Amino acid sequence: MKTIEEAHAAYESRIRYETARIHAAALYCSDGRLGEHFDDFLQNGLELPRYDRVSLPGGPACLAGHPEAHLEEQGVVDELKFLVEVHKLKRVVLVAHQGCAFYAARLGLNEPRLELVQRADLVRAAAFVHRVTGLERIEGYYARLTDGRVVFERVEV
Ligand SMILES: [Zn+2]
Repeated sequence: MKTIEEAHAAYESRIRYETARIHAAALYCSDGRLGEHFDDFLQNGLELPRYDRVSLPGGPACLAGHPEAHLEEQGVVDELKFLVEVHKLKRVVLVAHQGCAFYAARLGLNEPRLELVQRADLVRAAAFVHRVTGLERIEGYYARLTDGRVVFERVEV
């Protein structure tokens, strides 16, 4: 248990701050069990350090035209437009993950149909991102969970 003084003390990160932007963003689910895996994939797998994060339950699902995600769609479109304009975004990576609770709870889907809808959603979301931002470089990935491992598979979008 920390004392009150310790709890209010400043914490200095050991990670150095770099000012340069890399003009890439990733849209993925906010599920905290996968946060470090998404970072690992984006930073090491795709070699995109310091990428901009757009994270919310379901990730790309909000841009696939589901009426249940209409409110989120507006917010994410605004964020992407902001990143294109202010951060000079050039590339967007969309990542869906196996067993996403958004699909099960909000959209009422179960496997195996759930994965098929997620893959189709990546295609729909990529087309939508292209339409609203004008960006050409948009990629889709599906994170498969097997025996405690996470494997990111490319999905043609
Ligand atoms: Zn999820």
